[in-house]
Amino acid sequence: MLTCLLAIDGHAQDNTLMHVGIYRDKALKELMVMSQGGGTEVFIDGVRKGELMTTDGMKVAVVEGRLQARSLAFSFNSAKRIELRPHHSSGHLRITGVRPKVAERTYDGWMAITVQGGDMHLVNTVAIEDYVAGVVQSESGKDKALEYYKLQAVSCRTYALVNKRKHLADGFEVCDGVHCQVYRGHATLPDVLTATAATTRMVVVDARIRLIHATFHSNCGGETMNAEDVWSKPEGYLVSTVDTFCVAAPHATWQRTIERAKWLGYLHDRHGVNTGDSTMVQAATRFEPNCRERYLGTLWPLVPLDEVRADWKFNSAYFSIRPEGDKLLFEGRGFGHGVGLCQEGAMRMAEQGYPFTDILHHYFADVHLVDLGAIDFFRDGE
Ligand SMILES: [Zn+2]
Ligand SMILES: [Zn+2]
Repeated sequence: MLTCLLAIDGHAQDNTLMHVGIYRDKALKELMVMSQGGGTEVFIDGVRKGELMTTDGMKVAVVEGRLQARSLAFSFNSAKRIELRPHHSSGHLRITGVRPKVAERTYDGWMAITVQGGDMHLVNTVAIEDYVAGVVQSESGKDKALEYYKLQAVSCRTYALVNKRKHLADGFEVCDGVHCQVYRGHATLPDVLTATAATTRMVVVDARIRLIHATFHSNCGGETMNAEDVWSKPEGYLVSTVDTFCVAAPHATWQRTIERAKWLGYLHDRHGVNTGDSTMVQAATRFEPNCRERYLGTLWPLVPLDEVRADWKFNSAYFSIRPEGDKLLFEGRGFGHGVGLCQEGAMRMAEQGYPFTDILHHYFADVHLVDLGAIDFFRDGE
């Protein structure tokens, strides 16, 4: 398959910064800021008021719906907006939650603090590459293969651009939790930084140069799913593929035992299966799919396997059934919805030395890597 990297300059200004809503789940009332790697300029309600030195610290608290800021060098009451801009692009802001207590995190870029609903509202304006490195480290953790980090970097960057409007009504672009992508600030792991730099500005697009939704799951069980078989809407790059890389991984298999009567009762009550019919009972208690299927054997009415999975909280919709006395043994494969990238398979491929582009093409059909500036270029042409 073709991997093309289109480098088109001059169309990327809007895409190079991210505005991330941070500490959204903490309801912060008071925090401490320190400046690292040089001083930080402090703006109160749009006016530059001074500099936070590396030897100083600034406490910011919500008092009667406004912000109060105190440091050795200055103090301000009743501010609506505090903006912190490190002098140097290599400078950082170290933030510690005081009320409630939140362990210190270090952020690249600028920080704006306002009050919303009695809590602090923080928006981190950060270069997209710093943001991507932070997300890859937060989401993937340490000790992964370099090619896996590269794959994560292009996926996270693509997700960020696809979802730039997700929090428009909240005054930023993406949040820092699992709702968007987990982002705990500045990345420090050398391999994460190397992988991000090696894939600078690369995003993944489909055959029509649209950014892809890089859907993923934990383990596909040996075969991924077509998008339409799970979500009813087909997508050209989300098509079923055989995957041998994940079959020995931690979430490759699962087992459950369910009482036969309980199972038949469920099929009758929830799906309207006639459990008085011996052919139906036979089909309901012995099921050996050779590959991923959408429905449970020859049962009628049709019993969608993804509904069974949701109702019984199975790890996947890919399983067999066989009787064991008055119980039924369910033996399953994989973990998750099975669409798109299989994380455990991708990790294994990376450990075996496959380049991240091969891994990408293994799980997503007919996709390409392009410079993020190219997206605007093609969009402008529409
Ligand atoms: Zn979000
Ligand atoms: Zn897999």
